Amino acid sequence: MRNDFSSLREKMVEVQIAGRGIKNAKVLDAMRKVPRHVFVPEELKGFAYADEPLPIGEGQTISQPYIVAYMTEMLELRGAERILEVGTGSGYQSAILAEIVKEVFTIEVVAALSERAQEVLKSLGYINIQFKIGDGTRGWKDFAPYEAIMVTAAPGSVPKALQEQLQIGGRMIIPVGVDYQELVLVRREEKTFKETRLLPVRFVPLVSLH
Ligand code: SAH
Repeated sequence: MRNDFSSLREKMVEVQIAGRGIKNAKVLDAMRKVPRHVFVPEELKGFAYADEPLPIGEGQTISQPYIVAYMTEMLELRGAERILEVGTGSGYQSAILAEIVKEVFTIEVVAALSERAQEVLKSLGYINIQFKIGDGTRGWKDFAPYEAIMVTAAPGSVPKALQEQLQIGGRMIIPVGVDYQELVLVRREEKTFKETRLLPVRFVPLVSLH
């Protein structure tokens, strides 16, 4: 049996992603393509396609593959979007998004993580990702509004600034809660924000610097 990274990745998609009900072809293709092992620390490469989150340094984690796929699918991306991501971390989720949409704007508060992610993503040839080092709780006004926003660290409640940077008809997926967290889908309608609770999750906290 071939046991190299691409066959492990194919198996990951078959068992953990498609096998658990993810159907969106763009999401499945992106998960098949992006080399997750390049985003994890050297000593953990052997676990890169396992069904679990992994430490990436600085007390942070790269999410479980299924959660990455699930959050991406829930944004109903078509391909022409400009998307804001809060919590660049390893850059893996940024790569998945960059495979699908036109442009990704990603913010990370830990400079060392952003710098490493930038190196990895550039070495893989991504040119449609813009990086910012800073507090993503405030969003990234210069390029707002966004058709979609993905937050990969958990605040106690949905940050107002992020809601405001969502375009009408736009979607945001965000883990919310302190002790108990749930993934929440926020949809901006003409005059209101509609929130749907999806499933219990465990993310690192979104740190707020103000
Ligand atoms: N999407 C990442 C997972 C990142 S874990 C991946 O694919 O690897 C969450 C990340 O959010 C951590 O790197 C953490 O440093 C970052 N973070 C926490 N609070 C933040 C904030 N206020 N603004 C931006 N990034 C933040």
